[in-house]
Amino acid sequence: MKPKVSLLRTPNYDRKIVESHLRRLLAPLGGMESFVRPGQKVLVKPNMLSGKSPERAVTTHPEVVRGIVQLAQEAGGRVFVGDSPGVGSPRQVARRSGILAVIEETGAEFASFSDSVRIRPRGGTFHELEIARDILDADVIINLPKLKTHQMMGLTGGVKNLFGAVVGMRKPRLHLQAGTDKAFFALMLLELAEQVAPALTVVDAIIGMEGEGPGSGDPITLGALIAGASPLAVDAAAIAMLGISPQDVWTQAEALRTGRPGSRIEEVEILGDSPEDLRPSRFRSAGKTDVNFGLPPFLKNPLKKALTARPVVDPILCEHCGLCVEHCPPRAMAISGESLRIDDDRCIRCFCCQELCPRGALPTRQGLLLRLSEFLNKK
Ligand code: SF4
Ligand code: SF4
Repeated sequence: MKPKVSLLRTPNYDRKIVESHLRRLLAPLGGMESFVRPGQKVLVKPNMLSGKSPERAVTTHPEVVRGIVQLAQEAGGRVFVGDSPGVGSPRQVARRSGILAVIEETGAEFASFSDSVRIRPRGGTFHELEIARDILDADVIINLPKLKTHQMMGLTGGVKNLFGAVVGMRKPRLHLQAGTDKAFFALMLLELAEQVAPALTVVDAIIGMEGEGPGSGDPITLGALIAGASPLAVDAAAIAMLGISPQDVWTQAEALRTGRPGSRIEEVEILGDSPEDLRPSRFRSAGKTDVNFGLPPFLKNPLKKALTARPVVDPILCEHCGLCVEHCPPRAMAISGESLRIDDDRCIRCFCCQELCPRGALPTRQGLLLRLSEFLNKK
């Protein structure tokens, strides 16, 4: 059976509009009752990347969280809300993003994402993954991503949002394990999503992010909500809606390569508005961050600077808080005196530093060959 994805044009975050549109969005999928049964423990997992206000479009909008929490409560679920942010305590991020207020007002409970449990998936590439105990304790997981560009993976939506199931500092460790191999990292994200296995994914694409996402891009009105049981199929619909190539989204490209069900848009049953009708008139992708001319590693490594994009320090904006240094997976950053330095040879181009910098002080610089390749592709 084809996976189903429901799309609905939704103009803004007005509370009543979001609530009624979420009902209409889920109706063709059987309503919330087909995902949540009375008495079940439901974990709602929004994107709580960092403690930014909802207008910055970094986190899932609190009104979308509110609407989903209320529907799950109406269906009889005992609802918890939580995520493991890239930086900061989960409670602090929930407060700043407006999500904690929703938790308090709806009578939901806060999931702290403090403990993690080691699991051993069978048959995959990764023999061991550590995920939040809150994830394992839930009967039902509702995945609530924000649709944003992602400088490393191309796009963050249904699949990438589940990286938040990995608690705190264990995330950089996985980045380090994957190194600069984006396909390998994408495969890890796919296997993680399969382990977390959310029952429902609802994407907040009312206002998304374009450009230097997921932390430093620009908000863009996309005017849509997207939902389905399969995070991969939901991503396929989101990609079709944006009009970008699935090959530019690493998780989708890897899912296509490995023949995962739901990855091909042709195999997805679209309900409601069509992705083409919802397509924005313009959308600025994350931009390429590497090129691969089929070069063997012994040639590619010396050419790394020219072949890839990397973060650079804006010395005017940087105030040497040390946050990026603390979280850089391969320890490629250091502050000495009044300057922050990045060791380009050690940098694995994960862009964690850029996601976390509260000052936007780490813009992206593309390598020469990368710029040339983009120029030629545009011609
Ligand atoms: S780049 Fe940003 S996160 Fe890093 S030290 Fe400077 S201000 Fe802090
Ligand atoms: S400098 Fe930034 S992009 Fe490079 S490895 Fe460190 S966190 Fe990742």
